[in-house]
Amino acid sequence: MSVKAKNAKKDQDAELYSLGAAFNGSEIVPILEARIPIIDMGFLHSDVCYDVVSVWHGSFFRLKEHMDRFEKSYQGLGFSMPYTKQQMRQILLDMVARSRLRDAYVYMCATRGLPNLDDPRNFEKYQQMFYAFAVEFIWLIDPEEQKIGTDVIVSSVPRIPKESVDPTIKNHHWGDLTRADLEAHKKGARTAFLLDLEGNLTEGPGFNIFVIKDGKLLTPDSNVLLGITRLTVFELAKEMKIEARACKVPLATLRAADEIFMCTTAGGIMPIKSLDDVPISGGKPGPITMRLHKAFWKAHDDPKYLTPVDYK
Ligand code: PLP
Repeated sequence: MSVKAKNAKKDQDAELYSLGAAFNGSEIVPILEARIPIIDMGFLHSDVCYDVVSVWHGSFFRLKEHMDRFEKSYQGLGFSMPYTKQQMRQILLDMVARSRLRDAYVYMCATRGLPNLDDPRNFEKYQQMFYAFAVEFIWLIDPEEQKIGTDVIVSSVPRIPKESVDPTIKNHHWGDLTRADLEAHKKGARTAFLLDLEGNLTEGPGFNIFVIKDGKLLTPDSNVLLGITRLTVFELAKEMKIEARACKVPLATLRAADEIFMCTTAGGIMPIKSLDDVPISGGKPGPITMRLHKAFWKAHDDPKYLTPVDYK
């Protein structure tokens, strides 16, 4: 191929992949061309687990921890994956390289997959599937709003109990989370916190929650996803000599908080400025929250957390 033809092909590729790249189960394709089979049980029964990892300034952040959690999830559902963990990791790296995205939201999922149509009730015969996509980094709360803090409500919708759906297996059972989010929007808030059936704090639509009282961090120990950002908060708090613990967090403790923040891969550490219209930390981001917020983004330069993408 001539240099001119090569360059034209590169330009065409960049155009096709400008919105992102996806892995459709067998190959990397431009995101708008990705399709999944309609009989995939991930789609029909939410029989699927997933994970989301970020790419920041050309490197995956904590890829190992996300792959380890993903492995626990698909093993927890009894899936036998069509690719090894190492192969799936490489697919993610290749997919992001193809997308050319430097700051990306990278989704991966494992589904129960495709039934044998002669015997669709026989779960042993399903062909498990692996899909993924990478798009421009998604902010659950955009950086401008993070500077002033976010308004949240305590939802009237309880979190699905862990006895019904294991929240440590990152799953698509978002019915409760979506209802809570819609309730928040109706009330003019950004998002919602969900309680368990006993009235203790759990998590929200796509994030974990930390409460700060008398200089100490508390976060729910049950009915939550074990977030990788939550893990990073624990590690940063330790380095900063801030006491942090996972425990039961009753609603009264939440309401009495000095500061509150939520945390997730898609946005980092995000301060709360009001809860059910009552100001938190004087209606602005609290000082400990902001120290952690700063340390979190600084950690994105720390090689121990990074897996660089080879964009060739
Ligand atoms: N809790 C729920 C329900 C989530 O969906 C997420 C992320 O999507 C989190 C917590 C935060 O997890 P992580 O920090 O690993 O992104």
